[in-house]
Amino acid sequence: MLNFCPERIYVERSVKDESITANILCKFSSVPIEYVENPKILIKKAALAKDAISKGKRRIFVTKYKGKVLKKCPGTKYHICCNYYVLNIATNCYLDCTYCVLQSYLLNNPLLVVFANIEKFLKGLEEVFSRKNGKFYRIGTGELTDSLALDGITNFSKILVPFFAKWNNTILELKTKTDSISNLYRLDHKERTVVSFSLNPQRIIQNEEPNTSTLKDRIEAARICQELGYRLGFHFDPLIYYHGWEEGYYETVKALSERIDPGRIVWISLGALRFMPNLKPIIKERFPHCKLIYEELFPGLDSKLRYFKPIRVEMYRKLLKFIRSYNPGIFVYLCMETREVWERVFGWSPMSNTHLGHLLDERVR
Ligand code: SF4
Repeated sequence: MLNFCPERIYVERSVKDESITANILCKFSSVPIEYVENPKILIKKAALAKDAISKGKRRIFVTKYKGKVLKKCPGTKYHICCNYYVLNIATNCYLDCTYCVLQSYLLNNPLLVVFANIEKFLKGLEEVFSRKNGKFYRIGTGELTDSLALDGITNFSKILVPFFAKWNNTILELKTKTDSISNLYRLDHKERTVVSFSLNPQRIIQNEEPNTSTLKDRIEAARICQELGYRLGFHFDPLIYYHGWEEGYYETVKALSERIDPGRIVWISLGALRFMPNLKPIIKERFPHCKLIYEELFPGLDSKLRYFKPIRVEMYRKLLKFIRSYNPGIFVYLCMETREVWERVFGWSPMSNTHLGHLLDERVR
């Protein structure tokens, strides 16, 4: 289990009586609390602070979500995406991966934001799911945060998992780099929640994913979720190219195969390291030891920096080979890759985002 204690908690007055707020305050009764009337002033101050990113990760801001409840994952231009929907119940993360894109996405608000008005989310989802339009919704909470890192504090999963269990036209994916699954033990999930773990070789976890759970603990958490009847997903994302990567990923897949029943795995994704160029100076400043940014990285059509195409293809092919030798039937897909790379890795490519989305939906319908 991970340890986290914020330095300060800010609570917007309008959510002071929400149950999520009570959960957070109860957990950290000795942490200073400040009630906020004007969030804009707080956020501006946090964004302008010296060392804003590191400081923001240690300060929780409990506030109200005001936007559209369900959003399409923005994906990335000219690449095949999986037609995913995102539910942003929180933004930012106290874990501190060197390559985390949130460092550059959340510059305007670096606080660890928790949206406490859960009723708005449930009402919005209910409205969408009851439309009976034949659509299926794959939804994740892990786009702008780690789905489970704060779960022992907020208890969101205790509300969301039983809620999703009531619907057969949707699936919730909780994606994490932690082993924080204690809330998942006694929930009536009816297999409408997929618990997904992002994996990397332990050496990468140690060097590039500070504060996250070890590989061994993540796999053990996955094994427990399997025992609890949840379906599982795994994400080798970002795949990191380093001296010894082949052996590192082979050992990682091997460790997975020794503990997990492939029949419970609904999907495994592969996605090579990628980020917008403005993340580079941030990584350089925050993690002077980090070598990832000194690899040869080239801008793609979406402006993101990636490894040279032949390297990505080689990594995907190898990973696919390792996974296929563990079990040939596991559904493997690429995250944010071009049609050409798909074809070179698999010998075929989805025709569109909708096609890939449909293939994934079929795994969990
Ligand atoms: S766990 Fe995910 S959200 Fe958190 S720091 Fe790492 S990459 Fe970012």
